[in-house]
Amino acid sequence: MSQQLNLHIQPLETQSTTLPFAERIFIWFDQHGRKNLPWQENRSAYRVWISEIMLQQTQVNTVIPYFLKFMQTFPSLESLANAEQDEVLKHWSGLGYYARARNLHKAAQTIRDQHEGIFPDDLEAVIALSGIGKSTAGAILSIAYQQKHAILDGNVKRVLARYYQVEGWTGSSAVQKQLWEYAERLLPQQQPTQRHADYTQAMMDLGATLCTRSKPDCPVCPLCSDCQVFRTGQVQNYPQAKPKKKIPERNTIMLILQNKAGDVLLEKRPSVGIWGGLWSFPQFEQESQAGEWLLDYYAIALEQASLLPERMHTFSHFHLRIHPYLVQIETVPSRIMEANHQLWYNTHTEFSGGLAAPISYLLNTLKRKNTS
Ligand code: SF4
Repeated sequence: MSQQLNLHIQPLETQSTTLPFAERIFIWFDQHGRKNLPWQENRSAYRVWISEIMLQQTQVNTVIPYFLKFMQTFPSLESLANAEQDEVLKHWSGLGYYARARNLHKAAQTIRDQHEGIFPDDLEAVIALSGIGKSTAGAILSIAYQQKHAILDGNVKRVLARYYQVEGWTGSSAVQKQLWEYAERLLPQQQPTQRHADYTQAMMDLGATLCTRSKPDCPVCPLCSDCQVFRTGQVQNYPQAKPKKKIPERNTIMLILQNKAGDVLLEKRPSVGIWGGLWSFPQFEQESQAGEWLLDYYAIALEQASLLPERMHTFSHFHLRIHPYLVQIETVPSRIMEANHQLWYNTHTEFSGGLAAPISYLLNTLKRKNTS
């Protein structure tokens, strides 16, 4: 459904500004922008790319330690491309949205195989890589190669939706189209400029540190002289909220099988779908399915298992209610298991694959239980 866009926007050229938009952004950035982030040192397309992917849906302060550790393990694009997927996912454990890590790995292999190991400098070629959209591609190319490209991440969307008082939810395609036009029109005009990297960083920083979601500091903002929502006293009402939709709830039964040695059975999840490629406990949609499986492989009735406290985990489009059952195993399986996708994990050692947050939590709870 097409959105009603703001028809009351005053053209930028006619607004009372003292300096062009980009000039004001640069002055603010020189004083307040972030210039010592780890990926701004030894700047390369590879490092900028990794940081941009980590920063999607994750705050800078959370990303920094992950980025440093990731760079220690995978210091070059080649080392990432040649790594096992499990190793990559392990270093992503805790950051969430694991499709990002799988795409990163796949894209590194594409660059190794199709671009001679050199991160491409052409917008279309970058967008063609797994997990990179138009905004991320623009950010990488402007920051790493000083190319002139607009970006439209969550922070920039918020700034522009406020600056132009754009009607409608910024996630809708009609509003995004409008915001892209604004983002492109506001780019620094003078040619050539060596400040495309600074401009991109400044727009991200302005949204992250000044024009924040809950407490925008308008009086000190370089855009306040012609920001539409500031002028009309509507700051708190923009960007407009997403139309409300209830998130559905799903259930899953997890069987935590522990053998006499204290080892726990883990299964590798299929590479697509939730927690793709990560390790989990055997999972079932229904108790009856879990019961049949347990009886079939271990000759144990589900009633003999202990039900642990439930856990709720929220994905972007549904809540997952987890019902964990702890099962003590005395006997060896009566049938051959899928050797490639299952292993008995010794809980006294560090796990070498990727684990989703609720699985780590349940394993830690079990370890504490075993040592108490
Ligand atoms: S004036 Fe306020 S609302 Fe407008 S861009 Fe600046 S911080 Fe955001």
